[in-house]
Amino acid sequence: MTADLIDGKAFAADLRARIAAQVAAMKADHGVTPGLAVVLVGDDPASAVYVRSKGRAVDEAGMNGWQHRLPADASQQDLLDLIDTLNADDAVNGILVQLPLPGHMDDAAVINAIAPEKDVDGFTVLNAGRLAVGQTAMVPCTPLGCVMLLRDRLGSLAGKHALVVGRSNIVGKPMAQLLLANDATVTVAHSRTANLPALCRQADILVAAVGRARFVKGEWIKPGATVIDVGINRTDDGLVGDVDFDAARGVAGAITPVPGGVGPMTIACLLANTLTATARVNGLPDPDGLTP
Ligand code: NDP
Repeated sequence: MTADLIDGKAFAADLRARIAAQVAAMKADHGVTPGLAVVLVGDDPASAVYVRSKGRAVDEAGMNGWQHRLPADASQQDLLDLIDTLNADDAVNGILVQLPLPGHMDDAAVINAIAPEKDVDGFTVLNAGRLAVGQTAMVPCTPLGCVMLLRDRLGSLAGKHALVVGRSNIVGKPMAQLLLANDATVTVAHSRTANLPALCRQADILVAAVGRARFVKGEWIKPGATVIDVGINRTDDGLVGDVDFDAARGVAGAITPVPGGVGPMTIACLLANTLTATARVNGLPDPDGLTP
């Protein structure tokens, strides 16, 4: 068996085109242009690359975009003051503070200062709580992208056994919540989990968000399973995922490649969340096909 490739790059391109069309319609019908403010503290080169690509994506979608840069030695109060200003600015519908922050800052205090309705990363405690109790929330971009790919591939996720390997607040936990909200039966594994290979073999849906190159082996995968590889690991062979792709491809029914799978979905879902946030603050219905 050779697994089908789940082409996240193509899906994300189509999603971005659909978002651009909905942005144009929102401007024409309601005179509203969604706006995203991205805040970068310090000069971490990888973060600067991410911020630039987010800026380009925002422009291409026809949204307003602003980049705010603070020096690495800015105080936490400087950053909180900037967030306050953005919270109060009606042109700004989404605020993203690029992580990681410099070591002298408290990530949680900064993130939770973002107004929940502008929290397009879905990282505030309020949005995480809303997701957990099944209320309308802003949902983290990477898991949102994974669910879109899964629903596109499988249709209903009801009754499927899903295993999420990883329990971080930005990927594993919200991924598990979204799968649960889609009526999957969900198991969450982590570094203390016993018998991980046996758990993996039971999973119709396997989401790997571990941060270790080729960690999930081909022989762990249930034949025909749908495998979503969130991992991005830089190795001598280039970027690889958390799943041993070549071996997994011989067993799974479908699998996301790295690169070209989940990665492109994350930025597309940032645009989706910005449009959703704009619709909600203006009392409009949620845009079609962009929410979990
Ligand atoms: P974290 O390091 O925050 O979390 C990793 C998780 O993996 C932890 O819950 C950890 O368990 C678990 N883990 C570590 N070792 C093992 C093990 N031996 N067995 C089982 N579980 C283990 O990573 P993130 O969630 O932030 O990211 C995960 C991966 O996804 C990374 O490769 C990252 O680069 C990538 N990523 C990709 C994105 C994209 O856009 N495609 C976006 C965000 C992340 P424990 O909690 O017990 O420590």
